[in-house]
Amino acid sequence: MTEKQIAAHHEAGHAVTRIALGLSFRWVSVGQRDDGSLGRVSGAPHGLKRLNSLVAQQEELPPELVALAERCIVSTLAGPYAEMIAGRGRLLSLYSGVDDLDVVSYLCDAIGIGGDEIRERLAPNARRLLDTFWPAVERVAEALTERSPGSLSYRQVTDVASRSLT
Ligand SMILES: [Zn+2]
Repeated sequence: MTEKQIAAHHEAGHAVTRIALGLSFRWVSVGQRDDGSLGRVSGAPHGLKRLNSLVAQQEELPPELVALAERCIVSTLAGPYAEMIAGRGRLLSLYSGVDDLDVVSYLCDAIGIGGDEIRERLAPNARRLLDTFWPAVERVAEALTERSPGSLSYRQVTDVASRSLT
């Protein structure tokens, strides 16, 4: 498996689980970027802006934003997990770690949960979703790998993945 294919599975893992969890995005893409990463999902889910501003003001989050943060954590974890499944345990250095871990730790702080909640509830949730939607992840990863530049809109991802997502 090439580096691009592994990166495509990582991004497809994020994109497909976002759709499965009802989290919006604009584009998913693979390809070397200026910051050294090999892909990204762009477009924050609806509601995240409000969450960020409440966190910045140190306000308590309403239950729906706590639930949103948990779904964001699950879809963030799904990228590295998809990469591990596709790469048979291999994680690309400089790639799958840092940004995703930053997002997860920010959101955990925002809703006041720790490693136990991640290990016992949210990580297994991410793995279950990937198991359920793995055929969709593979199809989206394939489409991302074939395209140049390798990007798909939300709409295109749902089309490519539709057989497994509906
Ligand atoms: Zn990622």
